[in-house]
Order: sequence, then C-alpha cells, then structure tokens
Amino acid sequence: MSIDSQIHHFQQELRGSGCRLVAVSKTHPVELIREAYDAGQRLFGENRVQELTAKQPELPADIEWHLIGHLQTNKVKYIAPFVHTIQSIDSLKLLLEIERQAARAGRVIRGLLQFHIADEETKFGLSLPEAEALLQETAGKLQHVQLAGVMGIATNTDDEAQLRREFQTLRGYFEQLKASYFLADDAFREISMGMSGDYRLAVAEGSTLIRVGSAIFGSRAYPA
Ligand SMILES: *Cc1c(COP(=O)(O)O)cnc(C)c1O
Repeated sequence: MSIDSQIHHFQQELRGSGCRLVAVSKTHPVELIREAYDAGQRLFGENRVQELTAKQPELPADIEWHLIGHLQTNKVKYIAPFVHTIQSIDSLKLLLEIERQAARAGRVIRGLLQFHIADEETKFGLSLPEAEALLQETAGKLQHVQLAGVMGIATNTDDEAQLRREFQTLRGYFEQLKASYFLADDAFREISMGMSGDYRLAVAEGSTLIRVGSAIFGSRAYPA
C-alpha cells in the first residue's frame, strides 16, 4: 500500500477515538516524509538527533516534530530551537537541560515522561517513584517545558494479554500523576503508547498518541 493510502487509513481508523498518529519516519528519506505530509500528516517522530536536525530544514515548517528516542543531555541544544515534543524524558538531569535550552531558544517545549513498562532490560524509562521524585524536585521551576503526559514502549511480543497489562500499567501511571500533580492542568493529557504491531490494543487501552513507523513507511533498511 502507498504511504498516502496508509495515512488515510489511519485518519479513518482514529477518527473519533481521541487518539492521534505520530508518523515515525526514522531511517526514511525526506521524499517519503513529504508524501505523508501531502496526505495530511503533520506529526512526525524521529529517534536520533542527528537525523532529525538534518531532515527538519528540508521539510515544511508546520510539521510538529516529536523526539521519541533516548536523548543525551549534550544534544538537547541542537533540537531545542524547533522540536515540538520530547517524548523520552527519563531523568531529572535531562528535564532540567531541556528547560535550560528551551529558555535559551525563547520557546516552550512539550515533554512526556518516559516510563519503563516492558519486561526487557534494554528499554529506557522511569519508575513511578522516580517520576514522582522528579516532579517534586521541579515543582514550580519549569517555565519552558510543558509536561504533557507519559510515554512507554511495550514488550516486543505477540502476547496480547501481556501487551494489555503493560498499556494498562502506563495508563495507571498517567492517572496517578494526573490526580497528584496535574489535576488543574489541561495540558497534561497525553498517553503515548502503541506502535505498528500493537497500536490497536493501545488505542483500546486509552492511548492518545500512537507512534507508527513500519506500517506506514514499510520496513526499515537498518534497525533503529
Ligand atoms: C521506531 C519506533 C517506533 C515505531 O516502530 P514501528 O514498529 O515501526 O511502528 C515507535 N516508538 C519508538 C520509541 C520507536 O523507536
């Protein structure tokens, strides 16, 4: 299927669901991103700073860029002038650096707290106590980061019951943080979960942002 028809398929499928699509364009050239853009897609996700900073100037300015991969603090400065949302905040140090670089750029950057929900060792992310410590530490101090919700990557498995449990866990974290820290803050509303293989389950479990790459752009030439 073409990129154009895949984007339209997702537009149809998500209509009325309260969930939006982040098209994950990592490893794919700007020509293919432009095809998705021309089909009406505006939210795109990349996982590497160098790739994102190379592509961004080549593409329309109204794209909402989401950084979805692990971010080293020393690289925040390269994306702070334009990135819309950093989905992968997994430490206090990183959050404070985003605040600093967003202030320098005169901007507000949206941030999601990334949680560890998979049963795999290799995936980055916070635990709930770590996230609470981070929120207590930064309470009242963030002027250039708008914390907008949570993100998680489920285990790479076909086990639907396990995937549902992991998505429910992330949703539970969101609800706890919302109740304790963001009750009056309408901006804290995103639950980013679901990828090509598991997005239907994620939407059923309350996802507000699915991050879909290969189901739109085809398989990647190299793993990323
Ligand atoms: C690559 C990636 C995706 C998209 O994966 P697909 O299986 O191609 O849909 C989603 N989220 C993150 C964090 C990724 O790195």
